[in-house]
Amino acid sequence: MQWTKGWRDRVWSQLDQPWDLIIIGGGITGAGILHQATGAKLRVLLVEADDFASGTSSRSSKMVHGGLRYLKDMQIKMTLESVREREHLLKERRGLVNRLGFMYSSLESDHLPGWVFAAGLSIYHIMARQWPQRSYDVDDMRAFFPPLTAPGLRRGYRYIEANTDDARLVLRLLLESVSYGGLALNYARVDSLLKTRNGQVCGVVLRDLSGEVERQVEISAKIVINATGVWADELRGKIEREPRLRPLRGSHLVLAGNRLPLAQAVTFLHPHDGRPMTAMPWEGATIFGTTHVDHGSNLQTDPRISSSEAEYLLEALRFVFPGQELNFNDVISTFSGLRPVVNTGKADPSKESREHAIWFENGLLTVSGGKLTTFRIMARDALRIIGKHLGQIDYSLDTHALISIQPDGGILFGDLALPPAEQLRLLARYGPESTQLFNAAPPQDLEPVSSTPYVFAELRQAACTEGVIHLDDLLLRRVRLGLLLPNGGMELLPRIRAIIQSECGWDDARWEKEASDYAELWNRAYRLC
Ligand SMILES: Cc1cc2nc3c(=O)[nH]c(=O)nc-3n(C[C@H](O)[C@H](O)[C@H](O)COP(=O)(O)OP(=O)(O)OC[C@H]3O[C@@H](n4cnc5c(N)ncnc54)[C@H](O)[C@@H]3O)c2cc1C
Repeated sequence: MQWTKGWRDRVWSQLDQPWDLIIIGGGITGAGILHQATGAKLRVLLVEADDFASGTSSRSSKMVHGGLRYLKDMQIKMTLESVREREHLLKERRGLVNRLGFMYSSLESDHLPGWVFAAGLSIYHIMARQWPQRSYDVDDMRAFFPPLTAPGLRRGYRYIEANTDDARLVLRLLLESVSYGGLALNYARVDSLLKTRNGQVCGVVLRDLSGEVERQVEISAKIVINATGVWADELRGKIEREPRLRPLRGSHLVLAGNRLPLAQAVTFLHPHDGRPMTAMPWEGATIFGTTHVDHGSNLQTDPRISSSEAEYLLEALRFVFPGQELNFNDVISTFSGLRPVVNTGKADPSKESREHAIWFENGLLTVSGGKLTTFRIMARDALRIIGKHLGQIDYSLDTHALISIQPDGGILFGDLALPPAEQLRLLARYGPESTQLFNAAPPQDLEPVSSTPYVFAELRQAACTEGVIHLDDLLLRRVRLGLLLPNGGMELLPRIRAIIQSECGWDDARWEKEASDYAELWNRAYRLC
């Protein structure tokens, strides 16, 4: 059921039916499982308490990567799987997952000699069956990356990874799943679990949190999947299981592209503690991260950077890019994500394994941890376990991406004079079904939104067809203006209002409330204080 006007009521009216699967959690893990399960012709419902991708899946470092650091920690299986997934996603999600060069900058202060890194990189490339590695001397590196003027620079090692827009990747998976017949509902929280007399989970109690209507329903399913990421222990607690996860916070700074202009990513070890740091070009800006600290038990939806994390990140930036004279005024926004890792009590949080965990307890299948990059593997592992309970799963419908590229390499925006790369970007994000709307857009809607890669028509497209309930859904996840524009893009609100208010069906009072809630959220969780 497509997310056009009135879709929520239509979905709510269909909830009371026997489901094969109910997936709780609308991040990449839940979306990945929904995608494969609908492709396998299962009757599947996904529910998300907040907005789709509002948890960790819009707050990652946005890399689709093998993860060289995991190789160093001997997480071989995960590195191998991630490298293969990266290559797969680069083909299947072209335009949304994009290849990007990385330069590892070896510094005199490093505890790790450059040759060790080079040896690791060789193994990494063998895993990917590629050999694009090159090493650079200091002069070459500076020619490649003019801001890289750290005095202790020794040598650079270049390799290839990829990056993406994490929230849009989740959205694409969800929208494609919906077109295969799955249902996905945001702002619908599972408050409790239904259980049989012998304590097996057999359904959920769901409450509407959209703020538009008060309603609650009990829904049964053969299997209930807990894909709630860092919140997974909360649901496991409802079946009397002890907590197993350790929430770790990672925070990022977003800098204006012109204050730290990078054509490719730069990675290096933090001078203070030797942790790997990455400065990466993304959507016209530069993202820098990340920290890795214990978050504690207060698992709010919108975590924020602490002042010591911000200092730690700025210290590293100033060390490696001293000529840029960066300071906190150069930071446009910040964002923090919570990573669920299985708690083994290691003193250094960075040393906990990033592999995903699956536990099947009293009929509740919990899938947590892992990476954005490996969502398909997590989904496949989950379905393999479910298959034993649901009987043979039919994988005959191939759930590949729905990007239509014409045989001559041309893309579908017939009437629009858009460069091919821009057409591919729009298609990869909005799908072939969006072409009509973009083709019908008035010329002023095809103007870029300030310094970002977006055009105003994307806001209309998202408001009409992408399940936007609140303004922050649109500005922080459907498009990422809240991360990329100073002050969260607040100065653009009058123009945005003219485009989306009627599409969203909001009266003036509702608009005022949405705008003030957005400002409050942005100041609380995304501003550098
Ligand atoms: C700082 C950081 C950087 C990272 N960088 C990368 C990277 O560059 N590349 C990479 O591959 N991976 C990266 N990762 C890992 C990756 O982002 C996560 O593994 C992934 O996003 C987790 O997705 P998820 O769906 O499991 O959890 P989430 O995205 O958190 O989704 C869980 C959802 O469940 C919902 N929920 C909770 N309780 C309920 C309930 N009762 N009812 C309904 N819904 C509920 C929440 O609202 C939330 O939206 C990073 C992680 C962090 C923290």
